[in-house]
Amino acid sequence: MKELTHYINGAHVKGTSGRFSDVFNPATGEVQAKCPLATAAELAQAVEVAEAAQPAWAAVNPQRRARVMMKFVDLLNRDMDKLAEALSAEHGKTFPDAKGDVQRGLEVVEYCIGAPELLKGEFTDGAGPGIDIYSMKQPLGVTAGITPFNFPAMIPMWMFAPAIVCGNAFILKPSERDPSVPLMLAELMEEAGLPQGILQVVQGDKEAVDAILDHDVIQSVGFVGSTPIAEYIYGRGCSNGKRVQAFGGAKNHMIVMPDADMDQAADALVGAGYGAAGERCMAISVAVPVGDETADRLIEKLVPRIEKLKVGPYTAGDDVDYGPLVTAEARERVLGLVNAGVEAGAELVVDGRDFTLQGYENGFFVGPHLFDKVTPDMEIYKQEIFGPVLSTVRAGSYEEAVQLAMDHEYGNGTAIFTRDGDAARDFTHRINIGMVGVNVPIPVPLAYHTFGGWKKSMFGDLNQHGPDAFKFYTRTKTVTSRWPSGLKEGGEFHFKAMD
Ligand code: NAD
Repeated sequence: MKELTHYINGAHVKGTSGRFSDVFNPATGEVQAKCPLATAAELAQAVEVAEAAQPAWAAVNPQRRARVMMKFVDLLNRDMDKLAEALSAEHGKTFPDAKGDVQRGLEVVEYCIGAPELLKGEFTDGAGPGIDIYSMKQPLGVTAGITPFNFPAMIPMWMFAPAIVCGNAFILKPSERDPSVPLMLAELMEEAGLPQGILQVVQGDKEAVDAILDHDVIQSVGFVGSTPIAEYIYGRGCSNGKRVQAFGGAKNHMIVMPDADMDQAADALVGAGYGAAGERCMAISVAVPVGDETADRLIEKLVPRIEKLKVGPYTAGDDVDYGPLVTAEARERVLGLVNAGVEAGAELVVDGRDFTLQGYENGFFVGPHLFDKVTPDMEIYKQEIFGPVLSTVRAGSYEEAVQLAMDHEYGNGTAIFTRDGDAARDFTHRINIGMVGVNVPIPVPLAYHTFGGWKKSMFGDLNQHGPDAFKFYTRTKTVTSRWPSGLKEGGEFHFKAMD
């Protein structure tokens, strides 16, 4: 059995706790590796290394730090297939999806190459007689991030690239379900020229996370994962005086207006609802057609598309639409929610409960499901399912559809499909959700904008990537200086006398 490692001070280090978690091949259900789960002492060792290494890295000028990122981009492109292969093997997502995972991380690394420009401070010349004021953006010191299983390349890069280019050291605690790619990324960063100890990977579970939250030296914690844990991390991290940003779960609604292009809307819903088996925080999990006639037309378009979806292992080729869920527990949880939906009276229009794949009977595959006539009191509406299950909630009017999305506790993403510019404009202005698409089902902002939800999808005030990341990973120091002694009466400089 392959035993995975931590990555501390430039070396792969075996775990000492004696505790491990299983890493599965989700397509076959087999355990393929053991992931060590760190103790507080192992975490403290990484912090000690980071604290010693960080001042020298902060003293490297921003242009040179950016060059490491430039080289890292080259190495990501060189190793794209290798990274995607390792990612698919542990996560289960399709090969093109795995490359997308690396690519969307890489784009944030590219943005970080602009660090010399983005880290420039502010300057006021002559704020008073002989007085100048300037501000600098300085790194925080040792920073840390805790990441989810569903984007094991992208989300770590969203955190560590801005943290490191700003001059911080970064300790990554990746998901214990797919821990290999983060180790590969740490190796590549060092190949790109990053000094040892600036990016370290400490594998683990709650014990390692709590050690991060309680360690005095760690200045900031970034978290992405489910809402209950995000809320916990935010509370404990903040009460320990750390800067924290914690991104949580989602229940993203797509409103389909009667005037929408129904083929386009149906295509969008199939991609956004079932892509990556629904294991995306920006997946659309609720379709909200406005009016019964719209709902009937939409369902009629959706069913044949859903029935055509090809579910399979990533090794079966690029025409596979989505792969297995990440663990057997995830599969059981999703199927349990589907059963709860049926019991609550929702209409299961496409039933994927009996789905099996020949040769992969022990894999964590779940067939696609489509529910109609879901109501807001049902668990399948309230909870984030995180599986290939799309619920349809019929709204009587545009107002009712908007109110539905507004009233949900999550506020990550949403979309409206319409040809009516007025309705789209009204929606984008009024909706209390962080990322909004107009005829775009998964409105993930590009690297130079920021990513973040509202309500229970985000705790903190600065978003991921874009300019917010540079604010999160730096603090401002403002210097007010006065040099009146340089001026003689009459405006001549005293050093003239020395000519
Ligand atoms: P998760 O909350 O189970 O785990 C996330 C991280 O927290 C992991 O590193 C895990 O080891 C750690 N963790 C788990 N339980 C813990 C505990 N009790 N105490 C301390 N740490 C703990 O999430 P997941 O299943 O890995 O990821 C899926 C979730 O992430 C979904 O809810 C999804 O919506 C969300 N997500 C959100 C975003 C976003 O930007 N808002 C992006 C991706 C995923």
